[in-house]
This record gives sequence, structure tokens and C-alpha cells, in this order.
Amino acid sequence: MIEKREFYINGQWVAPSAARDFEVIDPSTEEPCAVISLGDQADTDAAVAAAKAALPGWMATPAADRIALVEKLVDIYQNRAEDLAKAMSTEMGAPIDMARSQQVGAGIWHLKNFVSAAKDFEFDRPLGDHAPNDRIIHEAVGVAALITPWNWPMNQITLKVGAAAVAGCTMVLKPSEQSPLNAMIFAEMMDEAGFPAGVFNLVNGDGAGVGSQLSSHPDVDMVSFTGSTRAGTAISKSAADTLKKVHLELGGKGANVIFADADDQAVKRGVLHMMNNTGQSCNAPSRMLVQREIYDQAVETATAVAQKVSVGNAHEEGRHIGPVVNETQWNKIQDLIQKGIDEGARLVAGGTGRPEGFNKGYYVKPTVFADVTNQMTIAREEIFGPVLSIIPFDTEEEAIEIANDTPYGLTDYVQTQDSARANRLARVLRAGMVEMNGTSRAAGSPFGGMKQSGNGREGGIYGIEDFLEVKAVSGWTPA
Ligand code: NAD
Repeated sequence: MIEKREFYINGQWVAPSAARDFEVIDPSTEEPCAVISLGDQADTDAAVAAAKAALPGWMATPAADRIALVEKLVDIYQNRAEDLAKAMSTEMGAPIDMARSQQVGAGIWHLKNFVSAAKDFEFDRPLGDHAPNDRIIHEAVGVAALITPWNWPMNQITLKVGAAAVAGCTMVLKPSEQSPLNAMIFAEMMDEAGFPAGVFNLVNGDGAGVGSQLSSHPDVDMVSFTGSTRAGTAISKSAADTLKKVHLELGGKGANVIFADADDQAVKRGVLHMMNNTGQSCNAPSRMLVQREIYDQAVETATAVAQKVSVGNAHEEGRHIGPVVNETQWNKIQDLIQKGIDEGARLVAGGTGRPEGFNKGYYVKPTVFADVTNQMTIAREEIFGPVLSIIPFDTEEEAIEIANDTPYGLTDYVQTQDSARANRLARVLRAGMVEMNGTSRAAGSPFGGMKQSGNGREGGIYGIEDFLEVKAVSGWTPA
């Protein structure tokens, strides 16, 4: 079993101030796969102090040098790709092939995008031609606490660390205690890249401990958080006393609006997207809204596609989906599937219990409900498992109303061959992102939500700007 009890503080691996072991569970087997430590206030204080001490030097480091270190990190990341994939597969259950391609791939993509965005960014520039003596200086927010979830761990860590590093922030990362191993490999990579001591620190811990110690810490200037809306609310409250900048990337309940004129792969694409990462994606298209003319056919297709999705051990190669992350999530998903049945939705694929052939591991049957109404619990709550709800609609207006009738606003999807209609929907859907006809967003496109899905934007220049303050100077003497 892996034993990794130390934290990375001020450029060194250090023992926790007090022993507090925590077992990391492999969701494919339900067996412990590693032991880490959960930090306490003394560990949090040490990491924040290191970040605070390193801040002036890091802010004064030319942006080009900060970017060069992130470029070096990209090379090291490529060399450690297999270690990262195996760690994520073991601790959060991403099937190994998917972990290699998508989970690891997302991180490298974000880091490269930050490098190219930062190279083009003017950190320091005149206000405009009309005011040559007014200077706008973009300067680091300061010490940033980065709190990340387990579902796309390397995606989230690189989105925060890459942006904070080029912006000139120093940082303390608290990864999810459910998936700490990939984060500790990442800390080794930061060390190898040669970031100055104290620029990047890692303390493991849970939300109630290190998480809330960071969000209330007087020497932390900003919290960048990705995770549940519940924790986002708690963090906002605890950060309020010190008026920290709080950046939140929270849950979602995305609508995938499929019109009768959609391309013939739209339903299949929507189901597979929903099942990817075993449904544990905040941007999952979990409400499939289907126009009445093609509704019966769509339900039939969705059923057939879901029934073909295979479930398997995350350590095995192949295109199956893995288990969900832990017992708590498994139980929550089971309860929600049961609620769907009890509230009268029509179960057409999957259901409660483990898939056939499994008596251990947090495996969930790929599940599809038809005839869902938007008021049912399964249409309102984020399930975070492989469970799709199909809702019929008649008109464009009705589709928009249903899509927007949710507390969330992260990603919506539109499937139609009528481009004028697609563009109309893009404007009225209340979500931070709208993806049409299976076209994914390009490099540097900002990721983030509206309403209870959060407030920040991550990725590319938008992500870097979230870690920057805008300073306005008058009476500047141009060089
Ligand atoms: P979670 O909110 O329980 O935990 C996320 C992180 O926050 C963990 O590191 C946890 O230790 C920490 N945490 C928990 N409570 C805290 C508190 N009170 N104070 C400080 N830190 C705290 O969520 P999770 O179960 O790890 O992840 C699943 C959730 O994350 C889902 O709701 C999902 O939609 C959301 N998510 C959102 C995005 C996005 O970009 N919008 C991305 C990934 C996941």
C-alpha cells in the first residue's frame, strides 16, 4: 500500500504537525490503496506562511520567467503522464485508458493554453491613446487557496495552478482527500520544474479542516474552489469575514435540447456524453429535452445506447465506464434512482443495484429515465452518476423555459440543423457555456457557470484574469 503522509511546504516534503491518517479507497475494489495524512491548523498556517513569504519575489519575477517555468512543467507533465493516469484510475475510478487520454490529457491542454494565452497578454499597458500617462497594471491577487474535487482532479488542479502561477500568485493547494495521489505527483512535478520555494504548497485535508482553515485564513487573499454548491456556499460564508476574492466552479444540471431536425447521432452522442466519467462531470448533459416528433424514437435509441455501455474495473483497459468514486456517492445515486421510480418517471435502462456480475466495487448501472418532468427530483438535483433524464417538449419556447428552469447554469447543449435557431438559443439559455451539435469549445475558451453553478471563469486568458487585480496608475512616465 502507498504511504504518503507528508505535505509539500516551502519547497520541501514535511511531516504533518500531528499524525492523522486517512485511508484512500480504490472504488473498483473497495480496498484501501493508500494512506495519507489530514492536516490541521498548524499545517495550514505553515503552508500559508510559506506562500506569503514567497509572494513578493514571485510577483516581481518577470512574467516571461513565470511562463517559462510553466512551459517546463508541461514537459515534466508529459514524462509523468502514466504515473498520473494510474493514480487517478486507482483513487477515483477513471478507467485507465480514459484516464490516460481524457483525465491526463485535460491537464496538459490547460497548461499549454495558459502558456500561449499568457505570452500574448499585456500585464502592463497604457489605459488608451487618449491617456498615455495612465497605466493599467495587472498584478497578482496574492496568496491563493486552491480547493479541488476528485472527479476531474488533474483538470481542476492545472486550471488553478497554471493560471495562478503565470499571474504571479503564490498558492496552497488542498486537493480532494478522496483523490490526493495525483495531486502529490503534481507537487513532485512542480518541485522538479524548479518553482521557487513557497510559490506552490500542498496540504492534504478534509473540507471541515484544512478546507475551512484556508477559506477563513487572514493571510489568504483569494479562494479558487471547484466542487459542490454546498461547499461553495460554506466557503463563501467563511471567506466573507476577511472579504477574500472567492472564485467558484460548482455543480450543474445541463439541458441538452434536441430538436426534431437534429442530426441522427445527436441522441447517441448525448447519452455517451452523460455516461462519460461515470456521469461525474459538472457539465454532464443530464437533462435530455427531446421534441415530441422524435421523442419515442429518441427514447428507444437512448435505451439501446445505454444498454450497450459496459461497466468495469478501472484498472482494466477498454472503453467501459468505471465505478463511481465512493460509497457515499454510490448510496446517493441509488437513492436518487429510487426517487425517480417513486416519483413516476419511466425507467427504460439500468436501475438500482450493482450491474450484473459485480458484488463489490462502487459500480452503478447506466440508467435512463423517460417521461421525466422538470419538477421531479432527478431533473432538479445533480445526481453525479450515470443517470440520464429524458423530458419531452413541443415548442422552442417550451424548451427554453424547461432548460432555464433550474438553479444551475453551467453548460447547455443544443442539437438542431437550423443555425438561426441554434444561435437564438445560445443567447437565451442561462448558462456559462452553450455547445451546439457536438462541437467542443476551442483552446482558451472560458469554463464556468451562472446562477448556482458559480461565478468564475477558468482556462486561457479568462482564467488568468481571475487571479489578477487591476491597478490604475495616473501620472505614469512612459519609458
Ligand atoms: P465537495 O464540494 O464535497 O468537495 C470539493 C472539495 O472541497 C474537496 O477538496 C473538499 O475537501 C473541499 N470541501 C468540502 N467542504 C468544504 C468546506 N466546507 N470548506 C472548504 N473546503 C471544502 O465536492 P466533491 O464531492 O469533491 O465534488 C463533486 C462536486 O463538485 C459536484 O457537485 C460537481 O458538480 C462539482 N464540480 C464542479 C465543477 C465545475 O467546474 N463547475 C467541476 C468539478 C466538480
